[in-house]
Amino acid sequence: MVDFADSPEQAVFRAEVENFFAQNFPAALSVNDNDDPRTREEGEDGPEPEVRKAASKQWRAALVDKGWIAPAWPKKYGGAELSPMEQFILNETIAERGAPRMGVPDVGSTIMVHGTEEQKAEFLPPMVRGESRWCQGYSEPGSGSDLASLQTRAIRDGDDFVINGQKIWTSGAHLANMIFALVRTDPEAPKHRGITYLLFPMTTPGISVRPLVQMSDARGFNETFFEDVRVPVKNAVGEINRGWYVGATHLDFERSSIGSAVGQMKMLDTLKDYLTKQRDAKGGQSRLGQPDSPRLEIADRYIEATVAKTLSQRVISMQARGLIPNHEASMTKVFSTEFNQRIARTATKALGLYGGVRGGDAPQYVPMGGRWGTMYLSSVSSTIAGGTSEIQRNVIATRGLGLPRG
Ligand SMILES: Cc1cc2nc3c(=O)[nH]c(=O)nc-3n(C[C@H](O)[C@H](O)[C@H](O)COP(=O)(O)OP(=O)(O)OC[C@H]3O[C@@H](n4cnc5c(N)ncnc54)[C@H](O)[C@@H]3O)c2cc1C
Repeated sequence: MVDFADSPEQAVFRAEVENFFAQNFPAALSVNDNDDPRTREEGEDGPEPEVRKAASKQWRAALVDKGWIAPAWPKKYGGAELSPMEQFILNETIAERGAPRMGVPDVGSTIMVHGTEEQKAEFLPPMVRGESRWCQGYSEPGSGSDLASLQTRAIRDGDDFVINGQKIWTSGAHLANMIFALVRTDPEAPKHRGITYLLFPMTTPGISVRPLVQMSDARGFNETFFEDVRVPVKNAVGEINRGWYVGATHLDFERSSIGSAVGQMKMLDTLKDYLTKQRDAKGGQSRLGQPDSPRLEIADRYIEATVAKTLSQRVISMQARGLIPNHEASMTKVFSTEFNQRIARTATKALGLYGGVRGGDAPQYVPMGGRWGTMYLSSVSSTIAGGTSEIQRNVIATRGLGLPRG
């Protein structure tokens, strides 16, 4: 039998995390059932935005002091050198408490693997201090799933590259002050071998950003244009023309998403508690006790939450052995993002006609702050971002199962 209980060392660490939360986690950041998850991102406005902003700053400072803002990183770069299992315990507590997501961007982990000492010293500390905000310049209008066909050109000119071209779907480019981008440095080479991974400030002359508005009304991503943008050659991570492999490491980190499984279980708990308390018009039966009750569907979601957690634990155990999960990360990504969509569908269905209401002037008709209607819309894109579910299944089929390419 597999025993998922904490080992004695893990129990000691869990107690340390609990204690840290008790001492440092500001009450103003706690979630309640009526919180809208759209307010859960760091720095975004929510109810009482000033109070939350101040609390958010205070919480971030506590995490930075402890090194838990970058739990996996070496202490010399502001991290805490936690083991993957300790990171999981920390993430678990963060999700259980409904604490906002704070941390360092995945590009930091990529720099840690492929960057020079100078690059680590220059780029990692501002990430820890929350001074740099990064966006990802990978996709182009003609290159998404077939990313290696990208055309944004970088031509060497002395100690600089000069970049011309266009990226698309650049999440947060309008807020970012830094970008990591894949650019073509050798158009003659086979497509995977002429690409370089570059880091540069978004304030570099020649960069312009145009917003793309999503169907959930969010203004999450952008088109990003480069016109004669000069970037020092020393800002290339890894070897020039070998950036494809650096970019792939980044995607493996992005897809592993440790900790989301715990958050999903927490979401289900909140839904279950809300539905259990809901009564019919006469104040009798709970919604879950009625003949058309969604309880069997909720039971299915709980089974899936357990599967999601097991998949995450597999990724963690690989990281604990110093391995970078590849098709295992794809399994976690495809399962967890499709699972998010199923959770949103179950919740909106369970809440009936009001389930999809997301806002408006009559909050009494907006169950649980409208979070499920929002999640129903926003979860659609998660099976596309970071590589579509079809691409993940291709990775699992070919690299995981050894099946031939289609
Ligand atoms: C919310 C969100 C945030 C994003 N953020 C960023 C970002 O910050 N930076 C960035 O660079 N990009 C970002 N992207 C872009 C994302 O990486 C691409 O949308 C994704 O890789 C798919 O590319 P595409 O949109 O060009 O679709 P296409 O590649 O044109 O695919 C169209 C359809 O064909 C299918 N398909 C394509 N090839 C195959 C194949 N070989 N086998 C089977 N099916 C296939 C796909 O699965 C898909 O269903 C983001 C996307 C979303 C939705």
